Amino acid sequence: MDFSTLERMHLPVRLGPLPDELFGSWFVRLAHAHGAKVHSLAYRILGRDTGWRYQGDIDRGGNDLVMSRIAEVARLPVSQVLQTTLSAYTDVLWCGVSARGAIKWVRPLRDRAYETAAGQQLCPQCLQEDEIPYLRRTWRLSLQCMCPRHSCLLVNHCQVCGADVMCHKSDLHLFTPQNSNGVTLCWQCRADFRLMKAPAVYEPELAEMQSRILNALQSGLFGLGNQQIRSTLFFDGLWMLWSFWDEPKRSEGMSVDAVYGYKPRQAKRYKGIDAHDASRRLALLKHTTKYFQGWPEAFIRDMQACGLSSSKLFQFCRGARMQSVPYWLWEPVYSSRNLAFYVPTDKEIEHTINYVRMRDGEARVGTVCKALNMAAHCNVRVSAFVRRMNALASVEPALGVHGTSIG
Ligand SMILES: [Zn+2]
Ligand SMILES: [Zn+2]
Repeated sequence: MDFSTLERMHLPVRLGPLPDELFGSWFVRLAHAHGAKVHSLAYRILGRDTGWRYQGDIDRGGNDLVMSRIAEVARLPVSQVLQTTLSAYTDVLWCGVSARGAIKWVRPLRDRAYETAAGQQLCPQCLQEDEIPYLRRTWRLSLQCMCPRHSCLLVNHCQVCGADVMCHKSDLHLFTPQNSNGVTLCWQCRADFRLMKAPAVYEPELAEMQSRILNALQSGLFGLGNQQIRSTLFFDGLWMLWSFWDEPKRSEGMSVDAVYGYKPRQAKRYKGIDAHDASRRLALLKHTTKYFQGWPEAFIRDMQACGLSSSKLFQFCRGARMQSVPYWLWEPVYSSRNLAFYVPTDKEIEHTINYVRMRDGEARVGTVCKALNMAAHCNVRVSAFVRRMNALASVEPALGVHGTSIG
């Protein structure tokens, strides 16, 4: 990507992002302040082949060259522009971000053929109170499902026409956008999001848990019980738990469907927790609140009650391409819910065969397995050992071992 061939340009209106503003929201305000449409301004700044739609999910701010070009044109420090993107959560939420593809905790927002996978979220009351309405960066993340300040669910589609919220398309049908409140308007029917009613959430402990989760993005730590967990590890584990509770086939009686009596999901392709509407993620937040209040005892108790073993959770994590389970989640679950059969070492098998032979005069596989305290009466490894040691004993009668029968 080379921007040196493009004209040197500086925008006349210098417009900085507002506190915790999302890149897309700031860029819409920037374009409209110049009477330009979002895509035309992006075209002028980035050129023909590197415009808005070629950047993947531009809110993720993946490309440094693109960001520095935009910052130069807008006459702002690059750091200030990067701060509006999701890449600023690197080392807090995850270890890195890519411009394309699914990424944990980021709501998919696809701008192709007028369809999106999930839609941008917003709180209508926050927008109402804003002197200059703008979208917050955390609203792009699926870890936020409610506004702790207004105790209401976040909205992610227009309540008039049902279109997904996409602020960068708000000027789609306008010739010259002049409305600086572009981010508050539905791109399809131009209804104002500020007038929409977000469902209220009445449990104050849910708002508190939502704030604690959001605070971990600021502090880089999450306090759970008596431990302080590094936020990247905390969010890894939380994503595993949310995905687990969302999957009734795996978590069975512990799933949010079983506990809150939801209808099973429709058969259409499952897109993961990040694409869910706020109401379903609220159920996951409710589960989190319930289990984190008495972590880990409450969680282990329910795993026990539902007959779930540690492997149910961990195998699921591995299957869902979540390589390693963070220690704060692994340790309590493994230490109390590991129901795997005991696997003896080679030395243990040898010693037990000698012991059984001394006791009974002969070593049979069944009796050796029983002496090893194994659940099975027959085991391939044990029978191989018994065969080999019995054969050895028969050619070395000098050792004084009796009996050569093979079980
Ligand atoms: Zn709010
Ligand atoms: Zn609409």
